[in-house]
Amino acid sequence: MNTVMTQKNASAKAIDLENKYGAHNYHPLPVVLERGEGVFVWDVEGKQYYDFLSAYSAVNQGHCHPVIVRAMIEQARKMTLTSRAFYNDALGEYEKFITSYFGYDKVLPMNTGAEAVETAIKLARRWGYEKKGIAADMARIVVCENNFHGRTIAVISLSTDPDSYGNFGPLTPGILKVPFNDAAALETVLQNNPDIAGFLVEPVQGEAGVVIPDAGYLTICAALCKKYNVLFIADEIQSGLGRTGKRLACDHENVHADILILGKAISGGTYPVSAVLANDEIMLTIKPGQHGSTYGGNPVACKVGIAGLTVLKEEGLAENSERLGAVLLDQLTKLKNEFPSIIKTVRGKGLFAAMVIAEKDNRNAWDVCMKMKDLGLLAKPTHGDIIRFAPPLVITESQLMDCVSIIRKAIASF
Ligand SMILES: *Cc1c(COP(=O)(O)O)cnc(C)c1O
Repeated sequence: MNTVMTQKNASAKAIDLENKYGAHNYHPLPVVLERGEGVFVWDVEGKQYYDFLSAYSAVNQGHCHPVIVRAMIEQARKMTLTSRAFYNDALGEYEKFITSYFGYDKVLPMNTGAEAVETAIKLARRWGYEKKGIAADMARIVVCENNFHGRTIAVISLSTDPDSYGNFGPLTPGILKVPFNDAAALETVLQNNPDIAGFLVEPVQGEAGVVIPDAGYLTICAALCKKYNVLFIADEIQSGLGRTGKRLACDHENVHADILILGKAISGGTYPVSAVLANDEIMLTIKPGQHGSTYGGNPVACKVGIAGLTVLKEEGLAENSERLGAVLLDQLTKLKNEFPSIIKTVRGKGLFAAMVIAEKDNRNAWDVCMKMKDLGLLAKPTHGDIIRFAPPLVITESQLMDCVSIIRKAIASF
C-alpha cells in the first residue's frame, strides 16, 4: 500500500513540476515515462505500455536500439563536438554513407526537422535566383494546405492551421498554397507564377492525420515540377525511413525528389539529427559562410545517423512495416465494420495508420486514447477526432495482434 502511494506520487509530482516550471506548449497524455525498450515503454509506476506513437516516428528502430546506443556512447567518449570551424573524422564518412544510401551528390547536416525545412527553403530560393533566374526577392515556394513542416517563423508561414501561425506574425512572404492531393491545382499555380522556385510536399501528411494522396499524385507533381523548372522538395521527416513500408514514401512511386528532407528516425530517437539532400547544381549554390549550424554534422550525430540508417536496412524494417501495415489496416477495417457508429474512417500505408472517431458528448479521440492508455497502449489524438497508429517498426505480428485486441477493447468500452 505504502509503495503504491509513493509510486502514485511520483507520477503526480513529475506532472506538477512540468506544469509549474515548463511552458504550456503541449498537452500530454497523463503518463510519465521513464524507460523504453523496443516497442515497449514503462511509466514511473512500472506499468508497461506499447508505444503506438514512436515519438512521432522518430523511434522507428525501437526504443534504445542497442546498436544505435552503442554508437552514440562510443563516439561520446571520444569526441562530441568540434563545430564546423574544423574538420572531424566522422562527418565525411557519414556524408558518403547517407548520400549513397539515398542517391544524392551532397548532404547538408542540421539537427531538427524545422531547421532542415528552413535549409531546403533557403536552397530552393538560392537556386531560383542563381540557376532559374528569378528576379531578386521574388522567389515563391508552393506548399500544400494542412501541411506540417515545423515551428520556426518561416516554417509556420507555410501553415494553414491558425494554431500554428496565429498571433505569431508578421509571417514570411513568398508562399503560395494549394490543396493537397490536387495536381491540377498545382499546375494552375505553376502556370500562373513564373517566379516559383520549389514545391514542398509531405508525401503522406503526418500531423494532418496520416492523409495519403491518391496513387500517382507524387509522380504527376514531380513531372509538373520538371515541366515548369521548379524544384520538387519532399519533406520525409515523418513519412520516410520505413514508416510507410518503403525506404521513403516517395519510393512507392519511384519519385526522386530534387531536395529530400529527413529528420526524426535518422537517429532512432537518440539524438536530434536532420539532413537535406540534393545534387550539386542545387547544393553548391550555398557557399562557405552562407548557412550553418554549430551542432550540425557533429561526430555523435554522424555515428548515430550511420547506425540508425544501417539498422533500418539490416533489420528489414521497411519490409516489416509493409507486411504488418497490411495486417494492421485489415484489422482496423474489421473494427470499423464492427463499430460503425464509433469509427468513421480508417486508413494507412505501412505501419502509419489512422482512425477517425465519430465524436459524441461523452466520447472523443482523447477519451479513446485515455482508455487505451489504461489498457496498456499509448497513442495521441491529432486534430481532435483522429488517432494515429505508428508503432516502432520492430514490432512483431503477435505483438501487433495483441495491440489490435487492446484497441478493440477500448473501442468496445464506449
Ligand atoms: C516533425 C516534423 C517536422 C519538424 O521536425 P522537428 O524536429 O520537430 O523540428 C517537419 N516536417 C514533418 C513532416 C514532421 O513530421
